[in-house]
Amino acid sequence: MELLKNYINGKWQPSKEEGMLDVVNPATQDSIGRVPYGKDTAQDVADAVSAASQAHRDWATTPVMQRVQPLYKLKQLLEDHLDDLARTVTSECGKTMAESLGELQRAIENVETACATPLLMQSEFSENIARGVDEFVIRQPLGVCACISPFNFPGMIPFWFLPYAIACGNTFIIKPSEKVPLTMQKVMGLIDQIGLLPGVVNLVHGGKDSVDALLDHPDVKAISFVGSTNVAKYIYARGAQQGKRVQAQGGAKNPVVILPDADLETSSKIITDSVYGCAGQRCLAASTIIAVDDRQGKVKEALYEAAKSRKTGYGLAEGVEMGPVISRESKARIAQLIDQGVHEGAKLLLDGRDATIDGFGNGNFIKPTILEDVPLGGEIVRTEIFGPVMSLINLQTVDEALDFINRNRYGNMACLFTSSGASARKFRSEANAGNIGINIGVAAPMAQFPFSGWNDSFFGDLHGQGRHAIEFFTQTKVVIERWPKEWSRKF
Ligand code: NAD
Repeated sequence: MELLKNYINGKWQPSKEEGMLDVVNPATQDSIGRVPYGKDTAQDVADAVSAASQAHRDWATTPVMQRVQPLYKLKQLLEDHLDDLARTVTSECGKTMAESLGELQRAIENVETACATPLLMQSEFSENIARGVDEFVIRQPLGVCACISPFNFPGMIPFWFLPYAIACGNTFIIKPSEKVPLTMQKVMGLIDQIGLLPGVVNLVHGGKDSVDALLDHPDVKAISFVGSTNVAKYIYARGAQQGKRVQAQGGAKNPVVILPDADLETSSKIITDSVYGCAGQRCLAASTIIAVDDRQGKVKEALYEAAKSRKTGYGLAEGVEMGPVISRESKARIAQLIDQGVHEGAKLLLDGRDATIDGFGNGNFIKPTILEDVPLGGEIVRTEIFGPVMSLINLQTVDEALDFINRNRYGNMACLFTSSGASARKFRSEANAGNIGINIGVAAPMAQFPFSGWNDSFFGDLHGQGRHAIEFFTQTKVVIERWPKEWSRKF
């Protein structure tokens, strides 16, 4: 079994922490690695920050065209090792191979987009802003930046930040989730081959102790966090208190509205893919489905048919459409939330709790579940379930649906299914969420666009990916220059 090491200053180094946590395959319960976890991981962080600070001196002044060259190599290596990386994602996280390949494709797209940094970093220049005076903006790197990532996309989420940060001239520390550290360990093996200066990219393991050490270290200038809302708020507050730039993406509870004029067959398929893809463990998973004016119950029927036939099983097995949830605790928490929904008055249209999968009796499986007539005042429409559970509600008009959506404490995504341009236009303008899907079930921004959560789904200003990432990872310096003629030597 692999004993995970840190990657600091261009070398693999054992952790100073002796305490270890098992990394568990959620489909089999097999231990597939041991990750350093405990107070002394803070010392690893100190070593990584020291190496990253040292490397920053050279890296910040390396021309940007040279800084992006290793990213071209990384893209090639990621593509060459795609299958192996996807298997690792599936083994530690549970999702299907197709889902793992999909998330790695999104990672590669971020590397490709960051290769445009020489252009994206260019700035404004005004000649003669006053007579004989020019003014311009320089974008400079911040220094050491760090990313703290969650369990559900081990191969993708660090790439919302890493390629942009280093292309902009920063040095970087990744702290992956202790539940799924193997994927980034493998990625780091590839990063080791792309010719970066030692210390430009570092990997440290651990949980809260290593996170707090990153938050408190004076030489860490920026933190990019993705995870649950409570932790995001904590990271944002503690990081800001230490004067750091912070972007903290939190949890979600995503509503999807289906109007009577939508194509029901296609829409129901797309919506069930959104609810049950990655076993509902996606921050852009549809969670509450709002059927508008569905007098004959056709929406409910179509969603039920699409959900019940979904094949659940081991992510590496052929034909499987949904894997397990991450842990036993998570499975128990989801089951308890289903109970609570029923207790609040919802009806259980499809109950996936008693899921037994041949050959995987120990796995954390829950099959597709549907709660219908979920009371609008209950807890279940407010709480992030993060599992394969659809909450179905019926409302009469688009305005009622928008009212419901706009009372949501989160704001990661809202989607509408319709064939009416006017309804779509109203929805995209009035829905209180940062990522909007029109006839799209998972409104995941492509790498060129910011991953734009709102409300309790995001704390900060500039988001990950694209131009926002370039702005986040650079600070602007405004220069005003005057060169009086009389001061110049005449030739
Ligand atoms: P989590 O908040 O438990 O953990 C995320 C990271 O924070 C991990 O690296 C973990 O080690 C660290 N951490 C955990 N508790 C901490 C604490 N008390 N102090 C300091 N650090 C701590 O999240 P998770 O369970 O790994 O991921 C699932 C959550 O992430 C869901 O809420 C999901 O919606 C959210 N998420 C959001 C987005 C987004 O883009 N908004 C994307 C993916 C996941």
